[in-house]
Amino acid sequence: MSDHELHCDTCEGVVLFEAPPCGDGHGVDCPELICTGCGSAVLLAPVASRPARRRAPRTSHRHAA
Ligand SMILES: [Zn+2]
Ligand SMILES: [Zn+2]
Repeated sequence: MSDHELHCDTCEGVVLFEAPPCGDGHGVDCPELICTGCGSAVLLAPVASRPARRRAPRTSHRHAA
């Protein structure tokens, strides 16, 4: 479950990334991944578990007079 295939700029292709041992206490939620090809670390964008609320209010159909 900890394997991710991502595009690596260094490897110039899609390679397997794996989560390194986390020393920051992130546990399974550690956003850091290491490229198995070149060893460079990448940070995944934090996945928001909360539903993203859009600020733009949806104007429901207005009754044009
Ligand atoms: Zn971590
Ligand atoms: Zn790489």
